[in-house]
Amino acid sequence: MDKWPIGIFTSLDAGLGARLEVVAELGATTIQLHAPSRQMRTAEHAQQLRRQLDQLGVQLTCVFGGFEGESYADIPTVRRTVGLVPPETRASRLQEMKEIADFALLLDCRSVALHLGFIPHETGSPLYQDVVQVTRELCDYCAGKQQNLHLETGQETADGLLQFIQDVQRPNLFINFDPANMILYGTGEPIEALRKVGAYVRSVHCKDARWADRPGEEWGQEVPLGEGQVDIEKYLRTLAEIGYFGPLTIEREIPHEPERQKAEIGKAIQLLVRLRSEILGS
Ligand code: MG
Repeated sequence: MDKWPIGIFTSLDAGLGARLEVVAELGATTIQLHAPSRQMRTAEHAQQLRRQLDQLGVQLTCVFGGFEGESYADIPTVRRTVGLVPPETRASRLQEMKEIADFALLLDCRSVALHLGFIPHETGSPLYQDVVQVTRELCDYCAGKQQNLHLETGQETADGLLQFIQDVQRPNLFINFDPANMILYGTGEPIEALRKVGAYVRSVHCKDARWADRPGEEWGQEVPLGEGQVDIEKYLRTLAEIGYFGPLTIEREIPHEPERQKAEIGKAIQLLVRLRSEILGS
């Protein structure tokens, strides 16, 4: 694979990604896929999708899990509903993540990812230990299929995430770095965070955002790539510094406005291609 191939975060019937037609039209060469709903996660659908991606010349690089009942309405709701942290849905969601990993394998994809949820800060608390334990179980399941697990950034500070990864102690646990999420959740300056967690970064999102007036209490605002406060040029230069040259996967979370989503992803591609050539000379 060439350095920094362009990617798009896509959705079939679930999640906030762009449609496959958009990928084809804009000419991206890689995608990450939000896992489709359960009824779509069959061998037959997987085969159909593989054929479709082959025809488009697109490589699937990561499958993202998501669950019914999750809501990103505001930060307290995320805390209550997202990922494997909420105890009441943990067992069923763990089971579903395993099924999503199976589906990824049918697509010959060796990376699965998710928002784990708000990991408690008190590392000695029973809840923290439970989240460590469930993450180990999922990592071990993925390891059995030669798959890695990537944690999406945003809900933790860089230090909190590093501590957690060290506590889980599994060699196939890595990070999907999303710089905009650090701003949206108010968990830290993204470039500084990227330098801290760099050794674990195996996939990234290219997404931009503006800080909220009260970071951490209310959402920041997601905006088109290059129009926010990430500093995309510095972001790419820092990715080069940490030795990351994998896909640059554009994420623009406005699926309810598909035309605008497509146009803004198109502009994001132009920006990334220009910066890539300036930084890498390729
Ligand atoms: Mg993201």
